[in-house]
Amino acid sequence: MSPPPRIAAILVAAGTGARFGGDVPKQFALLGGKPVVTHAYAALAEHPAIDEVLVVGDPASIADVLGEVRVLAGGATRRESVRIGLDAVDADYVLIHDAARPLLPAKVIDDLVAALTGHDGAVPALPIADTLAKADGALGQTVPRDGLVRVQTPQAFRIEAIRAAHAAWPSDREATDDAQMVRANGGSVAIVPGDALLDKVTYADDLTRMERMIGGIQVTGFGYDVHRLAAGEELWLGGVRIPHDRGLVGHSDADVVLHAITDAVLGCIGAGDIGTHFPPSDAKWRGASSDRFLAHACDLVEAEGGRIVHTDVTIICEAPRIGPHRDAIRARIAGLLRLPLARVSVKATTTERLGFTGREEGIAAQAVATVSLPGSI
Ligand code: MG
Repeated sequence: MSPPPRIAAILVAAGTGARFGGDVPKQFALLGGKPVVTHAYAALAEHPAIDEVLVVGDPASIADVLGEVRVLAGGATRRESVRIGLDAVDADYVLIHDAARPLLPAKVIDDLVAALTGHDGAVPALPIADTLAKADGALGQTVPRDGLVRVQTPQAFRIEAIRAAHAAWPSDREATDDAQMVRANGGSVAIVPGDALLDKVTYADDLTRMERMIGGIQVTGFGYDVHRLAAGEELWLGGVRIPHDRGLVGHSDADVVLHAITDAVLGCIGAGDIGTHFPPSDAKWRGASSDRFLAHACDLVEAEGGRIVHTDVTIICEAPRIGPHRDAIRARIAGLLRLPLARVSVKATTTERLGFTGREEGIAAQAVATVSLPGSI
């Protein structure tokens, strides 16, 4: 009997993810409390059939999140990055996988490896359930979906077939994937069942969907705050300076809106309240901008592997009118929480001239925040 094939995996983590948005390339965004790239790396490295995993990407960034793993700097295109990996691995079979597909079931790897017995390559693919149609602003003609599949990664190849396909590919042309290159070079590529878990992270919302797929929990926190109105003070609401004849009095800038959100965020992780972290007795918080308090609460959530996914705040006052400032406040809060505008809600109400808010003695704010946390209850 011949020895079992030696199997290597190349994990391509070199993309910049233009459609993902944000400051961090998608392979380093957090999913289940860990950078996206760590999920696929673990799935490959822990699979018993795989002997070697090579990451292609920015070595410093990869070392930051994966520690001491074998990594090579990527090329200008995905095709070049794969080629760099192919030149460096020592294997009979190679799996080529994109870090942007973090959830990789072991069964897909088993099926791919098994399929290489009779083929040069194998890809996971899923049938298309949705109607396909052309669109140009408006809906156009439907396109028959019979015989169409969605092709995913990892894609597995006999090493000589994929090396030959890359060598034969014209350098001035880009390929949609490695399997197409092998086919163009006359190789046979099998299909094994794909998995919806393997879908790609393209947009930031994809991470929220994946968090749901891998479990984890969503928790809600509540916050409430009041400050007194007085002449000669600035009025800050939701990190926005509001022109008004009076402002709120407090040790910091007395921004009731950010204080209520901060308490709601702290409430999600049972981390006390704003006074626990920033005691009014401490002189260093005198006149402090409240966005620092909120940033600290967000850091605590992040340290637990959590992610803020939504906040809803109600400002309770007779005056000033909040309507004209609502968009600015909403945008500021979204910026501070690094959330899309759609995940931030700002509302206002009066109390029909009743109570301290009705007498314009003070302004109150209530907030809820929702945080996605790894693990289960
Ligand atoms: Mg306060």
